[in-house]
Amino acid sequence: MKLTHFRQSGAFSGVFVLLFVSIWFDSVPCFAVSFNTMEQLSGIPASSGIVMGKAFLYLEGETPEIPRYSIGDDSLEAEWRRLLDAVEDTKREIAGLQKRAEQELDKQQADIFEAHMMMAEDPDFLDQIKDRLFAQKENAEWIVSSIVHEKTQKLIASGDAYLRERAIDITDVANGVIRNLLSIKRFSLADLKEDIILIAQDLLPSDALIMNKNHVKGIVTDMGGRTSHTAILSRAFEIPAVLGLSKATKMIHSGDMLIVDGDNGVVTVNPDEKAVAAFSKTSVRIARTLDELAEFRDLPSVTLDGHRVLLKANIETAEEAARILKYGADGIGLYRSEFLFITPGLSSDEEAQYQTYKTVLKAMGDKPVTIRTLDVGGDKIFPNFHSDDEKNPLLGWRAIRFCISFPELFKTQLRAMLRAGTEGTLKIMFPMISGIEELESALSIFEEAKAECRKKGLQIAEDIEIGIMIEVPSAAMTADILAKKAAFFSIGTNDLIQYSLAADRGNEKVNYLTQPFHPAVLRFIKKTIDAAHAAGIKAAMCGELAGDPLAAAVLLGLGLDEFSMTPQSIPLVKKIVRGSTLKDCKELAERVMECSSYHAVRALAETWMAEHFPPRCKDL
Ligand code: PEP
Ligand code: MG
Repeated sequence: MKLTHFRQSGAFSGVFVLLFVSIWFDSVPCFAVSFNTMEQLSGIPASSGIVMGKAFLYLEGETPEIPRYSIGDDSLEAEWRRLLDAVEDTKREIAGLQKRAEQELDKQQADIFEAHMMMAEDPDFLDQIKDRLFAQKENAEWIVSSIVHEKTQKLIASGDAYLRERAIDITDVANGVIRNLLSIKRFSLADLKEDIILIAQDLLPSDALIMNKNHVKGIVTDMGGRTSHTAILSRAFEIPAVLGLSKATKMIHSGDMLIVDGDNGVVTVNPDEKAVAAFSKTSVRIARTLDELAEFRDLPSVTLDGHRVLLKANIETAEEAARILKYGADGIGLYRSEFLFITPGLSSDEEAQYQTYKTVLKAMGDKPVTIRTLDVGGDKIFPNFHSDDEKNPLLGWRAIRFCISFPELFKTQLRAMLRAGTEGTLKIMFPMISGIEELESALSIFEEAKAECRKKGLQIAEDIEIGIMIEVPSAAMTADILAKKAAFFSIGTNDLIQYSLAADRGNEKVNYLTQPFHPAVLRFIKKTIDAAHAAGIKAAMCGELAGDPLAAAVLLGLGLDEFSMTPQSIPLVKKIVRGSTLKDCKELAERVMECSSYHAVRALAETWMAEHFPPRCKDL
């Protein structure tokens, strides 16, 4: 299959380049063309780049709908045999996966399938299904799913980290049996053999992590917003993505030819010749602009009047660490460690975590690395940690709240970090701190972890800075109090915006409210930076706003010390930093703080950018 992906031709992100370019081209994307018969769908531009290729509809990630019907007395034996056949098929599949894992993965991952095989063969489990089937006289898939639901809910509710992880294993095996009963062919995104554009309702983090990234060239989903975790992972993997289209899975069919424009949030279905020609032209234009930006990669981020800031990268997986240096990052400002925990068993495996953190620190040499402690919950529901009974997961048991209630799990991670800290400059950051009590509890668990390491005679880093994320309005409002106990702040605008405006960041219906330039958000940001400076600590930002070129001058003017962003955004932000004076930026920030609406702030920022960075390339 022929697939063209021009994003790869340049080192840097196109989204910001086009955004930047469109500022002084009347906000009209340069490659807008009128189309006739083909269809165009609009969604949320989530990950930069433009790509053309064939659609692949992926509905496997969803839990199959389980039918429920009665079985007559004379058919019960046949129903039981149908179940046994499905179990045999599942065992064959597990054996295949086990073999593959032994060849391609490490022993730890292969062991998972051994445990799955034992579960599929468990005679007690089969007896339980048989008893229920003959007593209840209902179809096998219904019986299996209800028994498994009861079992897993109990395990999850137990509060024991190990038992919670067993729940995901049981669900995995049971889903295999249910799929076989329903004759749904199992397909893993890891098995992709050709280039595709992935179309899904939503993408689970686990799907995103295991998918064959060499073949997934674009992502289109019904759900999700620009700061949802699917969006964040798409950017981490540099795959163009348009999310939140609502009906993509209904309107696009496998095999349809698509152009996915991750910069403008447009998906063109079955493009005509004119659209294909426009696609090629745009791709060339992006590549040229990206080449132009490459010259900023190795220059320091210092303003024209000598003010130095740090531009760091956000990463989601350890493998990314080695790649970010090519974008000229001053370090890692946010390593979202939670994606590591998708591997079952990892939360209790200090050694495996230690090795991973060590790899990241080593890859960065003497550049600082900020690892955020486990931030599960909200839209990052990992079935091995969470039961499905939270009514409001975004306001629920997530991030630091979750870790404080599982001190053993938390300490395992902290010990691994303390040990890895000897390999470089490590900073640790707690997510979702909402007040001083929470910070004190987390710090005292950290001290316990330290004492445990010392007791075991383990070598640890003694001078690790512990900072906090400011992503809840209560934290921003009490930043002066928190600054007494935190070594630094990092503003998480993705959540700060969500919680200030009460708008779910993953819900496309309220995406219009996700406005980083809302005066309330800007006031929280200013308050946080001012409180940090008054206490003599640094203020960083690691939410998506830090990489938005339109915000760079405003944030500089507000006094932000460190910007941490999608690595591909660094060169353009650096260009803006190096082309501005702190004095001008401060003036801009003062005017911005007087605006009463986000429209006014945006207009001001756009005018400022057009004046300070006039277009150079006519044909951009
Ligand atoms: C944030 O909330 O801005 C942030 C960086 O954290 P995450 O996006 O992982 O929630
Ligand atoms: Mg957050």
